[in-house]
Amino acid sequence: MEIAYCRRCGAPATFQEGIQYLCSNGHPIYANPLPTASIFLVRGSQVLLAVRGIEPGKGKLDSIGGFVDGNETFEEAAYRELKEEAGLEQHQIGPLHYLTSSIGEYLFKDEPLQVLSLFYVASFDANTVPTPRDDVASFTWREATSLSLDEFHADDVRSSFVALQSYLTHK
Ligand SMILES: [Zn+2]
Repeated sequence: MEIAYCRRCGAPATFQEGIQYLCSNGHPIYANPLPTASIFLVRGSQVLLAVRGIEPGKGKLDSIGGFVDGNETFEEAAYRELKEEAGLEQHQIGPLHYLTSSIGEYLFKDEPLQVLSLFYVASFDANTVPTPRDDVASFTWREATSLSLDEFHADDVRSSFVALQSYLTHK
């Protein structure tokens, strides 16, 4: 992620090293990744995935999830996204189990943002698919082991999906 100006004083910022920038008034600025929270809903060996309805990655597969808002825990963000994208309430799914975290990049209004993505897995014993909302075009139940990683839109979802495949194999 690129930083052009200081968020404290508005002065131009210059890149130093690593993730550190410095403005002309001496304020250090760190280009930290943005936290996201996501859920893989599983039913036996199947996983419920979202088909993205918007760019980036329109038509590609995604987990349910999104950016963590201010004053929100990872769990609260995951449940809020579950409601926003799938219309599901917390009591309709099993408890959240931590799966893994991964690094990715999200192109937001043409700006590449580095994300630090935390993934949960939870059981969802339903015979139907939820009604898609927000940036989701549709939902689809897929066999987790036979899914190609190319179908996903982002690296963080891909690497986390590998962790999910391992989780489903060993549970
Ligand atoms: Zn400054």
